[in-house]
Amino acid sequence: MIAPHWKPLQKRAVGAYLGVAVGDALGATVEFMTPREIQTAHGRHRELIGGGWLRLKPGHVTDDTTMSLALGGAILEAGRIDPVVAAHAFDGWMRSKPVDLGNTVRRGILHFRRTGEPVAPPDEQDAGNGSCMRVIPVILGCHGGEDTLLERACLHQGRVTHHNPLAEAGTWCMARLVRMAMAGEDKSRMLAGPVEALVRAWPMFRFRVRPEITHPSGFIVETLRAVFQSFFDTDTFEECLITVVNLGGDADTTGAIAGMLAGAYYGVEAIPRRWLRALHPPVAAACVDQALALIEAAPLPVTG
Ligand SMILES: [Mg+2]
Repeated sequence: MIAPHWKPLQKRAVGAYLGVAVGDALGATVEFMTPREIQTAHGRHRELIGGGWLRLKPGHVTDDTTMSLALGGAILEAGRIDPVVAAHAFDGWMRSKPVDLGNTVRRGILHFRRTGEPVAPPDEQDAGNGSCMRVIPVILGCHGGEDTLLERACLHQGRVTHHNPLAEAGTWCMARLVRMAMAGEDKSRMLAGPVEALVRAWPMFRFRVRPEITHPSGFIVETLRAVFQSFFDTDTFEECLITVVNLGGDADTTGAIAGMLAGAYYGVEAIPRRWLRALHPPVAAACVDQALALIEAAPLPVTG
């Protein structure tokens, strides 16, 4: 699955995309559980064993990965990043009868079906993590382009379902962090740049404060605080992912987002081989293919 001749950028891009899938598959087992329930059932949860409330087969993934792949496939086919391209991708994804489907996502896609409008109505209340969990294809598709281009691409794919300032701020911060990680920047610069900017604008994202987050919900603030503390306070891909999913809560999505960031930062070779072997093979192959194709085609035009 990993080709030794890949350049560092390719290893980071593939690491980020496979990180989404591995984190999703690892976290899905313990989604909605509390840390105490996880401890009782699994000790420290650290293997891709499937199960969970979705009763997944080992190595299978959920909406976080399948929505990313639907979006990435559509972007590659269209050769551009566009709100209508994203909306059609998510619509097709919903028709494929996915194993799970969040309420905000369902509402946004139904709005598009009804109106043809690829932007959900603004919602001040519903700052879910659903637009952040599927952002990897636009980050890779904008590689080498201006920051403003990436920011627009994040909004285009996000607003199909999540039209909320907190969700947008969190997603944009994460996109900048992954971009810096792919460029080989270190954690201190990532903290001083995008994380500091996010916390200055929205202090509720501050992490390393008591009480530390446990059992993070699908609220983007709780999700990203869990991801930040797990990524910035560990030193390996494996420890980052084990730390974040053992917090429980929306563990498939905290796992997917942490996996994306840690995969970009540490590169694909840092992902434990036992996890890559356990990952559902067609999903693993699609992540690798899309990651390589997107950075090869990048920067793609952002339209609409
Ligand atoms: Mg999920």
